Amino acid sequence: MKEKVLVSACLLGVDCKYNGGNNYDEEIFKELEKYELIPVCPEIFGGLSTPRKPSEIVGDKVINNEGLDVTNNFKRGAEETLELAKKLGVKKAILKAKSPSCGNGKIYDGTFTGTIIDGDGITTKLLKENGIEVITLK
Ligand code: SF4
Repeated sequence: MKEKVLVSACLLGVDCKYNGGNNYDEEIFKELEKYELIPVCPEIFGGLSTPRKPSEIVGDKVINNEGLDVTNNFKRGAEETLELAKKLGVKKAILKAKSPSCGNGKIYDGTFTGTIIDGDGITTKLLKENGIEVITLK
């Protein structure tokens, strides 16, 4: 039986990225074949629309590039994702690099200048705090 994992839906080609596109990558897709995939998009789960303004983590908040505080949407999306993982008994998530929701170990620094710093996205952080392993393939 294949191991169940949560996966960032944009990696599978779902157009849920902030700009209305996706992050499909053939190499990653091949790697994912060995799992039973449960697609998630925390930003959609949190009530945001697609397309939407890009957001970055600034301190303990998430702010979009027009200065709007979207922290509550990001938190709600993280909680919904965790809830789904718990309901389905999922222990692993394969998430998209550098996203303010899905980023794992590296995220943008909050200046919207493309600068990367150490840190986890809001969903990644919550999943890890709840014992779910988070992997980034690329
Ligand atoms: Fe992809 Fe995660 Fe961003 Fe949704 S929140 S578009 S799944 S990186």
